[in-house]
Amino acid sequence: MLNEGKKRKTVLIIDDSPINIEHLAQVLKSDYRVKVANGGQTGLEVARTQHPDLILLDIVMPEMDGYQVCRELKEDDATRNIPVIFITTKSEMEDETRGLALGAVDYITKPFRAPIVKARVKTHIKLKHNSDLLEKLALIDGLTGLPNRRRFEQILKREWGRARRAQEPLSVIMLDIDHFKEFNDHYGHLAGDRCLSRVAQALPTPLKRPADAIFRYGGEEFIAVLPDTDYGYALKLAEQIRAAVGRLRIPHQYSNAENPYISVSLGVTSVTPNSRITPRVLVKQADRMLYEAKKSGRNCVRGEILAETTEPAPGAGKA
Ligand code: GH3
Ligand code: MG
Ligand code: MG
Repeated sequence: MLNEGKKRKTVLIIDDSPINIEHLAQVLKSDYRVKVANGGQTGLEVARTQHPDLILLDIVMPEMDGYQVCRELKEDDATRNIPVIFITTKSEMEDETRGLALGAVDYITKPFRAPIVKARVKTHIKLKHNSDLLEKLALIDGLTGLPNRRRFEQILKREWGRARRAQEPLSVIMLDIDHFKEFNDHYGHLAGDRCLSRVAQALPTPLKRPADAIFRYGGEEFIAVLPDTDYGYALKLAEQIRAAVGRLRIPHQYSNAENPYISVSLGVTSVTPNSRITPRVLVKQADRMLYEAKKSGRNCVRGEILAETTEPAPGAGKA
C-alpha cells in the first residue's frame, strides 16, 4: 500500500501554470487525491478549508509568490503542520536555502523527474503520518485508552478560556477508586490493571454531551471536564458515574464489608471562570472534595461551588 491509513491522502498543488499543474497531477493522481490552486491566495484558502496532507508549492507566481504563501501557511495554526515541498525553476542555492528556512520540508527543481517527485511526496506524507500518530499517542493513556493528564491540561485550559469568554459555568469531577491498594495486594497487579480498564470503560457512559471529556489523571484517579455544566448537573453526573461503576460489580472482598465490590469516591466543583481564579484552583478544590468523600466513608459524592473566598490574590498561587 502506498498510502498510510484507510483514506487516500490529499496533495494540494499551488502553481500559476496550468501545464505544470496538469503535469504534476498526472504524476500523483494514481496514488493521491489531488487538489489544485492556480494562485497563492486561492491556495491558502484551499489549505485552510480542506487540510491537505501535503502541499506542492511553486515559487514564481504573480501577485503572491511561493515564499509568501509558505510564510502565511506557517503562521496559521490551521495550516502550520502541513508539510510544504517547493517545486520551482529557481535553482540557486540561496533560493533553496530561503525556502527551507521558511519551514518547507523539501525543495525540488523543475524540470522535475516524475519518480523523484513521487518518492519525495511519499516520504514526507509518511513522516507526517508518523509524527501525527506519535503526537496522538503521547496524549493517550496506554492501559485504559483514555486521554491522559497532558491532554487534560490542554483541554482544561481551552475550556477555561471558552467558559470565561462566554461567562458559562465549568465543572470538574475528580474520582478515585476506593481501597485500590488492597485490591492489588489481594488480587494481583494484573487484575488491578484489568479493573482499571473496566472502570475506565464504564466512565464515559453517563457523559452524554460530546464536549464533555474524561481523562486518566493518575494511577487510579480520573477527572472529567464538563463545559457549560452547572453545579447541580455536575453533581447528578457524578452520582451517575458512581452508580455505573457500582453496576460493574467487580468483586473486592477487602473493600467494605457491606459492599464487597469496586467503588469510587468523587469530588465535584464548579465555577464561572474570571480573571481572579486559575484553573488550578478548580482542580485543587475538586481534589479537596474527593478527600471529603473519602472521609465520609467512600463510594459517595461530595462537592462545593468554588467560592470567591477560596481564590488566591492576583499573582499568588505560583508555588
Ligand atoms: P483510597 O480508598 O483512600 O483511595 O485508598 P487506595 O488504596 O485506593 O489509595 P492508595 O493511594 O493508597 O493506593 C492506590 C493504589 O493504586 C496503589 C497503586 O499500586 C495502585 N495503582 C496505581 N496505578 C496503577 C496501575 O496502573 N495498575 C495497577 N494495577 N495498580 C495501580
Ligand atoms: Mg484510591
Ligand atoms: Mg489515589
